[in-house]
Amino acid sequence: ASPATDLNLSTSDQLFTRAKDLIPGGVNSPVRAFRAVGGHPVFMQSAQGAWLTDVDGNRYLDFINSWGPMILGHAPQIVLDAVAQALPASLSFGAPTRREVEMAELIIEMVPSIEKVRLVNSGTEATMSAIRVARGYTGRAKILKFEGCYHGHGDSFLIAAGSGALTLGTPDSPGVTEGVAQDTLTVPYNDLAAVAAAIEANPEQIAAIILEPVVGNIGLVPPAEGFLQGLRELCTRHGIVYIFDEVMTGFRLARGGAQELFGIDPDMTTLGKIIGGGMPVGAYGGKKEIMDQVAPAGKVYQAGTLSGNPIATAAGLAQLRYLHEHPEVYQQLERTSALLADGTRQIAAELGLHYTVNRVGSMWNVFFTQQPVTDLASAKTADLDAFGRYFRAMLHRGIYLAPSQFEALFVSTAVTDDLVDLYLTACRASLREAHGL
Ligand code: PMP
Repeated sequence: ASPATDLNLSTSDQLFTRAKDLIPGGVNSPVRAFRAVGGHPVFMQSAQGAWLTDVDGNRYLDFINSWGPMILGHAPQIVLDAVAQALPASLSFGAPTRREVEMAELIIEMVPSIEKVRLVNSGTEATMSAIRVARGYTGRAKILKFEGCYHGHGDSFLIAAGSGALTLGTPDSPGVTEGVAQDTLTVPYNDLAAVAAAIEANPEQIAAIILEPVVGNIGLVPPAEGFLQGLRELCTRHGIVYIFDEVMTGFRLARGGAQELFGIDPDMTTLGKIIGGGMPVGAYGGKKEIMDQVAPAGKVYQAGTLSGNPIATAAGLAQLRYLHEHPEVYQQLERTSALLADGTRQIAAELGLHYTVNRVGSMWNVFFTQQPVTDLASAKTADLDAFGRYFRAMLHRGIYLAPSQFEALFVSTAVTDDLVDLYLTACRASLREAHGL
């Protein structure tokens, strides 16, 4: 393997040392600490297009893209211009604004299952609110989620949770009361029979089934043939609110998200990430009859001082409008992502590793296992030590991957064919280095 360049991370390391005394684990969101892959986190300074620049001046080709929001790459001019134009009009009013109406119109047009929508400030708020509404609507207490799916850090979801909770070995968080935990049922992803059994064991008690229609928080796990439709039928038959958590997949897998890609009509949808263009925005929406339960139309309470924030909606609206007007973005992302994922699969095979590469559209990842990965249990067969060595080898070659085996990678439109080649060259060298080949 060709040697990786020596990275000078001295400023990052100094900042991390300071941060650890001030902030739990030195970070404001756990996966950023690089615990699962070893080494210290890299502190970022700026980003443009496909490239991140850290505080020591190193550059990295970015495959996290802020965990999904930056679908057009970093600092796209249309989004920067929209924000610059919005800034002088003040940063917040706590009163309704025109852009909130325009944003709602656009969301409803792009995601047809959504008839009414409420803006919030994060994906976590969206999912927490959605299940409250589903409970209020059905008068039932329990929800059903899938092992390894992550729906933000609301208490009800920190049972068998994915993403950082999984990475750090705390899928069931302390601090979540037994009472709350009792109301969350969990079954393996892609296991329709287990869902049917859970419904039978809890007759007329389940308010909602919530899932990632394509999982990004176990690593990338696609839904099995018929799984999403099967859940739709079970929910309809048993009066259960069917919630698609499209915080990752929304506006990414298609203009209308995973529900457009797979042709499913969920009752409710949660959104985040892309919808804010990098600003803190989330949304939840669904059928009128359900959404009209929300205050002040109905009695289910949900509110937010900064909800519909004028700067956040300026950024989000600019990005959404661009996606709405440029459907070719999705063909481009599909093509680039296929080159990345297929290339990775081929390199691993050539090296005798035969690793599993999962991909749907511009979300994908390589699992360090030869088994097919269809759920949490199969994802856990991955060689995490080898992944950690690979991650560090890639970082030293200027490729910024998710610092955990249990996360998806996100591709942006800023990745050109030249950059694909750059990535593939680094991938081959790093796989060899990680395995002593
Ligand atoms: N749902 C899904 C599917 C997510 O991937 C995430 C975050 N990665 C969330 C909800 C929570 O969103 P946020 O981090 O904005 O609270």
